[in-house]
Amino acid sequence: MTEVETKFDIPEINLVSLQTKITKLNKRAVKLGCEPITLEVLEEYFEGTPAIKYAKVEVIGKAPQYNGWSFAAKLDPTEAGNLIRAIPGIQIPEKYKTSGNYCDHCKMHRDRKTYYILQNEAGTFCQVGKNCLKDFLGHTSPQAMANWAQVIIEFLGSIGSDYGSSNTSDAHYKVKDVLASAIRVIRTKGFTSTAAARDHEGLTTTSDEVSYVFFNPPKGSSKLMEMWRNHVERFGPANEAAQANATDIMTWIENQENNSDYIHNLKVVNELGWIKWKEFGLLVSVAWVWMKEAEKAEYQRKSKEKANDYLGEKGKRETWELTYVGHRWFDSQYNDKGTCMIKFEDAKGNSVVWWTSAVEGDDTLTYKDLKMIEGDTYTVKGTVKDFREYKGRNQTIMARCAVGK
Ligand SMILES: [Zn+2]
Repeated sequence: MTEVETKFDIPEINLVSLQTKITKLNKRAVKLGCEPITLEVLEEYFEGTPAIKYAKVEVIGKAPQYNGWSFAAKLDPTEAGNLIRAIPGIQIPEKYKTSGNYCDHCKMHRDRKTYYILQNEAGTFCQVGKNCLKDFLGHTSPQAMANWAQVIIEFLGSIGSDYGSSNTSDAHYKVKDVLASAIRVIRTKGFTSTAAARDHEGLTTTSDEVSYVFFNPPKGSSKLMEMWRNHVERFGPANEAAQANATDIMTWIENQENNSDYIHNLKVVNELGWIKWKEFGLLVSVAWVWMKEAEKAEYQRKSKEKANDYLGEKGKRETWELTYVGHRWFDSQYNDKGTCMIKFEDAKGNSVVWWTSAVEGDDTLTYKDLKMIEGDTYTVKGTVKDFREYKGRNQTIMARCAVGK
């Protein structure tokens, strides 16, 4: 008996419908007295970016057989040659491409519509007209077997095209990469929740900024393509520091007490290592929660040792030696690139803040031609604009600063 083994790689999401189809077909196999089709999942794996979960499956169909003869192909003669629909995996001899109207059983050339190619256990092929099948095989209902042969031909031949593709709703995204990207967005632009974006026109949610990294590149417009590339360059997961943060966040999730649905869901996706599109918001939010906690701990540790006084006089222009300790970008209604909050400290640890759009850069800031390096000390000349308190720290707010080395 000819056994047809066919291996396919299909998106895992299509497995259920493939199995359902086979179950349905097999009801016919039982009625026809033929052997059912079997399906076995050999392995499951992820592939591509975004990743799709695939299953490698083996589908086995047994070609119907009687009296030592198996069905190998269905053949429809046309003026341009024969149309051959073979059971997958069976190599039909060349001559059947042009054999035309001829029956090996009755040895007659007749104008028939359909022939079958049969193969015996010795490997010999023959071509038999549809109406001669009964006499040739000596079976009472050879047509039923021929029909089943056709089912196997058509079904096995179509698995690749019918079940082989997927849509992006099945895409999977690596937890670590999403976290790394979220960290980069939040560090540069702060965190924007869905609620905040709803209330402030023009704000984009952090989750949208992150998911845009993982979109397929926009097609057609070179301008959109350029924008997307820049976005990925700025916020993509391929960044060593962000990857290290992502690993820390995953460990942090592991160590959390499982005391809410939120933590429970995080633990589930953390364990899986993958999320689907709808879980972007969940992961992005935990990057923010983790960052706030980490900053708070760092802040508490540092502020214990620091002086906490206001500097200078309101409205007066002053020059100080200040250490640049960090910055954050905020969206602005005045310009596209936003406003940068630059944090300085004097030698005693007093806090000075300068709000400006006169600098460039995300991770590393440049003021005019001066590259600003975290931890380095600069000469800052500016006007004292205000005194404010932020989380227990007194901040001297500066305006119109000139920064030099
Ligand atoms: Zn015949």
